[in-house]
Amino acid sequence: MPARSLSIVMPIYNEESLLGELFERMTRMLSGIEETTGLKSEWVIVNDGSRDRTLEMLRSFAARDQRLVVLDLSRNFGHQPAIQAGLEYAHGDAVVIMDGDLQDPPELIPELVRSWQGGHKVVVAQRRSRAERGVKGLLFKLFHAMLARMSDLKMETGSGVFGLLDRRAVNELLRLHERNRFFPGLRTWVGYEQITVLYDREKRASGEPKQTFSRLVRYAFDAIFSFSLKPLRAIWTLGFFVSLFSIGYALYLLLLRVFHIDVVPGFTTPTVAILLLGGIQLISIGILGEYLGRIYDEVKQRPHYVINEIITGPRDSVPTPLSN
Ligand code: UDP
Ligand code: MG
Repeated sequence: MPARSLSIVMPIYNEESLLGELFERMTRMLSGIEETTGLKSEWVIVNDGSRDRTLEMLRSFAARDQRLVVLDLSRNFGHQPAIQAGLEYAHGDAVVIMDGDLQDPPELIPELVRSWQGGHKVVVAQRRSRAERGVKGLLFKLFHAMLARMSDLKMETGSGVFGLLDRRAVNELLRLHERNRFFPGLRTWVGYEQITVLYDREKRASGEPKQTFSRLVRYAFDAIFSFSLKPLRAIWTLGFFVSLFSIGYALYLLLLRVFHIDVVPGFTTPTVAILLLGGIQLISIGILGEYLGRIYDEVKQRPHYVINEIITGPRDSVPTPLSN
C-alpha cells in the first residue's frame, strides 16, 4: 500500500528570532521529500500563545506556503498540550513530532521517513549527544537514570519528543486521554516495533529556552509519577522498616527496665525520633499529594487546549470559537 501523506507537528512559543531560518530549512526539506518520495506534506505549527511577533510572521509564511497550517491556541498551554493539539489536527499517514527551535534538525526527517517506509511504525530520533551542558545537562542525565530505574514500563530513555509515528500509532496515542502527559513514555506505551535513528542535538538556533526550569521539573515529575508506582511502594517499605526498628528499640528499653538497669532520662533520643519521623511523614504525605493532585487533574476532564483560530494559507482562515 503506497503511503501518501506526511504531517509535521511543531509547537512554537515566542520564537520570532529563529522563524526565518526555520521556515527556510523546513520548506527546503519538505520540497526535497516531495520530489524524492512523492509524499504530500502538511506542516502543522501550533502557536502556543506567543506574545512576540511569532503569530504575525506565521501568518505571512502560511500565505506563502500552502503546506503550512497554523493552529493558534487561545493562550500558552505548554509544550505537551501544544503537541497534543497538533497531533489531533494532523491528517498525515505518518506524523513527525519535533520542537521548533531547530534543536531537532529538519534535515533528519527524510531519514525518519525512509525508516517508516521500510515498515517501522514508530521511529524515535535519539540524541547521540546532548547540547545542554553544565548543571542542566547533569540534571537531564540524573532524570533519565532515575526514570529508567523507577518506571514500571521498560522505556527507551534519553529520547525526547522528536520522532515519527505511523497513522496507526497516532490513533492509538490519541486514545490516551490523560492530562499529565510525558510524550516519550506514552509513545513507548503504545508499543509497535520501534526503531531509533541517532542524531546530534544542536544548540537552539536562537533565543532562550522557552520551557522554564519549573516547567521542566514538573515534566520530570509527570514522567515519574505517571509511569511508576514505586514512590508509593517506597513509603510502604520505609514505614515497614521504621516500624520494625521501633519495635526492636521498644523491646530493648523494656529489657533495661526489667533488669533494673538505670535509664538516664534523655533528651536526644526523643528529639531525634520526632524529627526523623516528622520528616519521613511529611515526605510521605508529599508523595501521596503528588498522586492525589494528578488524580484531581484527571477527574476534572478539562480539554487539553483551546484553539482560537486555524490559519491555512491562501485559503480563508477558519475561525473556531469553540475548543477541540
Ligand atoms: N514551547 C511551547 N510552549 C511552551 C514552551 C515551549 O510550545 O510553553 C515550544 C518551543 O517554542 C520549542 C519547543 O516547545 O519549539 C521546545 O521548547 P524549548 O526549546 O524551550 O525546550 P527545551 O529544548 O529546553 O526542552
Ligand atoms: Mg529546545
